[in-house]
Amino acid sequence: VHELDVDVAIIGGGTAGMAAYRMAQTHTERLVLIEADRWGTTCARVGCMPSKLLIAAADAAHAARGVGRFGLAAGAVEVDGRAVMERVRRERDRFVGFVLDAVESWPEARRLTGGARFLDDHHLMVGDYTRVRADRVVVATGSRTAVLDEWRALGDRLIVNDDVFDWRTLPASVAVFGGGVIGLELAQALHRLDVRVRLFGKGGAVGPLGDPRVLERAAAIFRGEYPFLPDADVESVTRDGDEVVVAFTDADGERKVERFDYLLAAIGRRPDVDGLDLDKTSLPLNEKGGLHFDPRTCRVGDSHVFVAGDATGEVPLLHVAADEGRVAGDNAGRFPDVRGRPRRAELAVVFSDPGIAIVGAGHRELEQLGVPFAVGEVDYGDQGRARVIGRNAGLLRVYGAPDTGKLIGAEMVAPAAEHLAHLLAWAIQADRTVQDVLDSPFYHPVLEEGLRTALRNLRHALAMGPPPIERCLDCGPGG
Ligand SMILES: Cc1cc2nc3c(=O)[nH]c(=O)nc-3n(C[C@H](O)[C@H](O)[C@H](O)COP(=O)(O)OP(=O)(O)OC[C@H]3O[C@@H](n4cnc5c(N)ncnc54)[C@H](O)[C@@H]3O)c2cc1C
Repeated sequence: VHELDVDVAIIGGGTAGMAAYRMAQTHTERLVLIEADRWGTTCARVGCMPSKLLIAAADAAHAARGVGRFGLAAGAVEVDGRAVMERVRRERDRFVGFVLDAVESWPEARRLTGGARFLDDHHLMVGDYTRVRADRVVVATGSRTAVLDEWRALGDRLIVNDDVFDWRTLPASVAVFGGGVIGLELAQALHRLDVRVRLFGKGGAVGPLGDPRVLERAAAIFRGEYPFLPDADVESVTRDGDEVVVAFTDADGERKVERFDYLLAAIGRRPDVDGLDLDKTSLPLNEKGGLHFDPRTCRVGDSHVFVAGDATGEVPLLHVAADEGRVAGDNAGRFPDVRGRPRRAELAVVFSDPGIAIVGAGHRELEQLGVPFAVGEVDYGDQGRARVIGRNAGLLRVYGAPDTGKLIGAEMVAPAAEHLAHLLAWAIQADRTVQDVLDSPFYHPVLEEGLRTALRNLRHALAMGPPPIERCLDCGPGG
């Protein structure tokens, strides 16, 4: 067994782990980054980037099919599954290549490949042959897709996101299970690429939405495009030959049996901490078996261990993993002089079409906190620019605090949601009032005018402004 003695050991070479490495190396040269599987990060290899590449192809097909409404004819759109997947993989490999270049630029002696587990608070076993004594440890092991045990019998017909992005061509049909972010994105993309899909959700969830009105609108929009059961009543899932057979009750109460090439599991991701042998340490665990940590410092209890990224089991988003990785790596490096970080406004986006976004405090959070809030909304079905470009579907709701008049949150299913969400997130982080945002410039005619309508409604709901003028397309910023 090879022995290694370091100041900082980072477990997991993903986005959080790499960010942690970059920060920790500014404090010490005695550090090591450990990756169990493939370098290149979940984001670039099987997450954010390849999913957006697949969605880009799907949206292009959808746009081409929709030109008729403008009086144009583009002919029938044919999807060449091989070519689609070839571009997805080629571009994906390019992104992964940049990540690998970064990793390979770091001294080889500071990189270990092998699964790490704790032997005790300060010792790690990496693979079978390397023992690491670390003064401080960063856990950045990410998450993995959850699958139901009963699906295991499907064998190679059961797939997860990783498998999709290695496809050489598109299959004929896929049953997508899970109405969360990944399920919504992939089901719609596959549908638009001529794959027969059905999305089986649970409990009525539509992505991360918590505002019942926005959720209801989103469900209606997606159900209007492809078969989606937000609260599916599934009787059985079995394998017959090379097919997955799903028996379920359809929305109209009719019992149906459908056959698919694959079952794509997208029912959520679990923090990848169960293989770490945390029970061999004295680290405090939370009720879910994860590490109990302070989100400001990423420190686990008052220990020498830090946790970052999806491994926390809290917010499984890329920018959060990067932020937490930096904090965890910096603190592991500077230990025991541990420091907190300022919080960014929350921002979560689903790259469906129309897009979904939650900014700042979501509706569910506000209700749970029991704080008073007022609501303003805009219906994008009727919004000027949205109608002009033929993307008039959606509902955006903004929340404000009655005592201060400040903007505190928003939920939406709307065209250009990713961009509207950024405007709102920046305003919320800057602690701006609804009036202050309304005093900002708005061009005409733009989708942001819809947001302005919602803000005017909110100002009125806060009893801080007049009732908005109905259907006013050109009443400008002061209107
Ligand atoms: C399909 C999909 C689409 C997504 N789209 C978006 C998006 O559009 N926007 C967004 O913000 N987020 C998106 N995400 C989420 C985002 O990808 C994750 O939040 C982010 O990648 C998490 O980074 P991480 O560093 O925590 O984990 P990872 O990048 O997964 O890194 C963890 C690493 O730890 C390694 N590891 C695990 N256990 C051990 C061990 N015992 N020893 C050593 N190494 C170990 C793993 O092999 C892995 O490489 C998406 C995710 C998926 C799956």
